[in-house]
Amino acid sequence: ESLISATRPLASQVGGHAGVLTTEDGSLIIKPALPLELLFYQALNQNAELEPLRPFLPKFFGTLKLEGQIDENAIEEEGLVLTPLDIPEKDELSVLSIVLENLSYPFLKPNILDVKLGTVLYDEAATPDKIERMEQTARETTSHETGIRLTGFQMYDNNTSQPINTPKSYGKSIKPADLPEGIARFFALGTEDGSSNTGLPRATVLPLLRSIREDIADIREIIASLEARMVGMSLLIVYEADWALAAEGVKRLGLEADEEDEDDDDDDEDDDDDDESKRPGPPYVVKLIDFAHTRVTPGKGPDEGVVFGFDTVLRLLDGRIAQISESG
Ligand code: ADP
Ligand code: MN
Repeated sequence: ESLISATRPLASQVGGHAGVLTTEDGSLIIKPALPLELLFYQALNQNAELEPLRPFLPKFFGTLKLEGQIDENAIEEEGLVLTPLDIPEKDELSVLSIVLENLSYPFLKPNILDVKLGTVLYDEAATPDKIERMEQTARETTSHETGIRLTGFQMYDNNTSQPINTPKSYGKSIKPADLPEGIARFFALGTEDGSSNTGLPRATVLPLLRSIREDIADIREIIASLEARMVGMSLLIVYEADWALAAEGVKRLGLEADEEDEDDDDDDEDDDDDDESKRPGPPYVVKLIDFAHTRVTPGKGPDEGVVFGFDTVLRLLDGRIAQISESG
């Protein structure tokens, strides 16, 4: 509870509406609660059909009642009400937030991409006016044709160690034919001498990409067997931009898939990192976020537009893997 004594805006927010907060230590996300998102996180603990999804969602810690205005940046500790099973009244909802694991917390330099999935961007309860607007948005962006939109991303600069933000205007403006370029920007290949602004060296980025691709293929299969409408849901892909930590993380996960490198029997037990406090984070994480317009819909079959989006993502990753493989 003492963690939630002070909050600040989440500096690494790459998409969505402003207003996502983080705790003082950065380990948790505090996001305004919407009824469907609350329902979904609650259903996750009760509905056996949703169980396979759990490893691919941020940990849900419950709801938090903010005392006073959200932007007051202060929360009273006694205001912490963990009520994972109660649906609040509508007027109460305006002061309720959901508390989630911050997926980028374990990283020293998180490169973060939010990919909005699906061809349909409106909820079934939307007004005709809103439906019309959201259909137009889908047609004017990559959503309608490919089932994805690059919502936004941040990349660490290798030289300044500062994050560089690519705003949502980029992902909104590009055409389907530009998506491979967008993916190549996020999975940048760094020059081996470290002089390039962004990106990891080939020996790190390739196994990372392959593993991320496998995780996303697993998530796709789960989604394809779920009867739900997941409007506005995103894949959040986070990977370590720090070269040493990323390489170490890849090694630790046994992900060294660089077949060209035949001396994989090299003994690294003498890996003596003196700084015990600087434990290496995981090299990447891939999770689903944003269930503000997700509904479990038994009998209605899977969300085909979202599954289509997953297939686009997999195709783009395959393309990027091939591109980097051939460049070596
Ligand atoms: P919105 O409904 O405004 O789109 P999202 O749930 O998509 O809200 O969150 C907006 C942004 O906040 C995401 O693009 C991401 O950058 C950040 N974010 C949301 N949830 C998490 C999380 N659990 N861990 C890390 N970052 C998150
Ligand atoms: Mn979102």
